[in-house]
Amino acid sequence: MDGGKLWLKALAVGLIASAFPLLIFGCKNNTSTTNPTAHDATWPDKPGPKVVVSFAPLYCFVANVAGEDAVVKNVMTSRGPHDFDPTEADMKLVTKADLFFIIGLGLDDKQGDKMKTGSGNKNLKLVELGESESLKTHLLKGVSNQPGHEGHDHGDKDPHLWLSPDHAVKLVNLIRDELKAADPAHAAGYESRAAAYVLKLNALKTYGLEKFKDKKDRRLVSFHDSLAYFSKAFNLEVSGVLTKHPGQEPDAKEMKQLIKVCTGPPQVRLITTEPQYSTSTSGQALQKELAAKGVASAELVEFDPLETVRPEDLTLDWYEKKMRENLDKLAEKMK
Ligand SMILES: [Zn+2]
Repeated sequence: MDGGKLWLKALAVGLIASAFPLLIFGCKNNTSTTNPTAHDATWPDKPGPKVVVSFAPLYCFVANVAGEDAVVKNVMTSRGPHDFDPTEADMKLVTKADLFFIIGLGLDDKQGDKMKTGSGNKNLKLVELGESESLKTHLLKGVSNQPGHEGHDHGDKDPHLWLSPDHAVKLVNLIRDELKAADPAHAAGYESRAAAYVLKLNALKTYGLEKFKDKKDRRLVSFHDSLAYFSKAFNLEVSGVLTKHPGQEPDAKEMKQLIKVCTGPPQVRLITTEPQYSTSTSGQALQKELAAKGVASAELVEFDPLETVRPEDLTLDWYEKKMRENLDKLAEKMK
């Protein structure tokens, strides 16, 4: 390249840098806190563990514990763990990673295995948090796996651990221990940040309990079978499930069974919907049927299971914010 072209190149880089200073410099200083863009497989040139997580709540848990000592990237955005299929670009993301956190329990383990194998990274440690020994006695069955209900796609245990602040604390402690083992020189930092984040999760639980404290009727139908841990944490009761797989509308027989459950006694009047499936009509259909059969106050309430995220929204406090929104919306409709 001759001197003239170099000069032109320098000018172009300078112009771009001055036009988009945040894009170039802002992100560099802040890699673990903002826009963990899934398809950017480049890692900053700094020491410390390179960590990938399967989906958004895990990003918040890991990034809060990692601080500036590790870099964290998130894989899934608009498609969640029930139907995500990793691309070449996703696999590339883990080629240089040290740790890959997933939930497991039949939720995201297929994608995790596929990404690890596809990346050819033999040094990658794939951590299936939900399969950890310390969680074994704290796992619950989903509603569909309890007596009187029919089959279900998750296997035996509900994998939606992150929807309970109590279980979130257990996940954060497991993440802390993995980061300490991967980077013992910064153990004290991981310890103190995990402890600080656990306080926030405890505050989230207190917030929810306070919201529900005067509620007498704590029953609901959930859009997909995801609320075993959430309902345990906040003393709610999931009486039925609308869709066997998220987005898979109930058939006539399942609808009939739900109507039977909800007309009681006791009656069940709250039906959750999910923003990811806003075009689903089964919730409205059930609400109408219930209203016609005497459950006059049957209502729909939106609950986000936090399985998808817009990359630009994924900040350190995203999990807490979205959980508070869920708690607010439910408490508003609950009696
Ligand atoms: Zn789910």
